[in-house]
Amino acid sequence: MKKLSLDRILQSQGFGTRKGCRVLVEDGEVAVNGEVVTRWKDEFVPEGLEFTVFDEPWTYRQHVYLVLNKPPNFECSRKPSHHPGVHTLLPEQFTWRDVQPVGRLDHDTTGLLLLSDDGDFIHAQSHPKRHQAKVYRATLAQPADDGLVRQLLDGVKLIDEPAPIAALAATLLDPLTVEIELDQGKYHQVKRMLAAAGNHCAALARVRIGGLALADLDLPEGEWRYLDAAQLAALN
Ligand code: URA
Repeated sequence: MKKLSLDRILQSQGFGTRKGCRVLVEDGEVAVNGEVVTRWKDEFVPEGLEFTVFDEPWTYRQHVYLVLNKPPNFECSRKPSHHPGVHTLLPEQFTWRDVQPVGRLDHDTTGLLLLSDDGDFIHAQSHPKRHQAKVYRATLAQPADDGLVRQLLDGVKLIDEPAPIAALAATLLDPLTVEIELDQGKYHQVKRMLAAAGNHCAALARVRIGGLALADLDLPEGEWRYLDAAQLAALN
């Protein structure tokens, strides 16, 4: 891979404008492979480069692929209106890199949210024709029995949808908790399906995307991680 000057590398990783990155280097705030570098013109092979900024360690990444365990009362929108945006839960560098959520969760929905600055990845993951399976765990307002499961599996009629919409799978974990697997991402789909089935969704969490399960991540609410190669592959 071609060498790049340190100011360019830092800019690509979200450390500010080119000018701002030059100042960081000149101020002695950046070390590469353990050595402080004060000349921003110094060139390095970016791939795999280990560096620190203000003593915080970073590894160069052409793109970032993240998973966040979304807490309630955060919006996925880049211009949130009533609650803080999910980007406020991530390091500022990721906003500079234009990291965006892959699809959206409602402000009150919790759980798995993927984020990336790789436009091709975002497009591929969120394309409706992909039919990626996602599992949601819903807390119900009223106790339910197998009748609810049957309705969800047979399909329920949503306003504006020509045909009934069915879950791929539905399991009642207890009378107030149902897990629903869907391969579509229509607006408020789980909440609308539960309402159409005569119940009400009191709380909602996304617990699996493809083969990536929240329970396997050991990821507390509000925290994020880089997805590793195996986790990225598990999405497919
Ligand atoms: N279905 C919903 O109703 N809300 C979400 O956030 C996700 C799926």
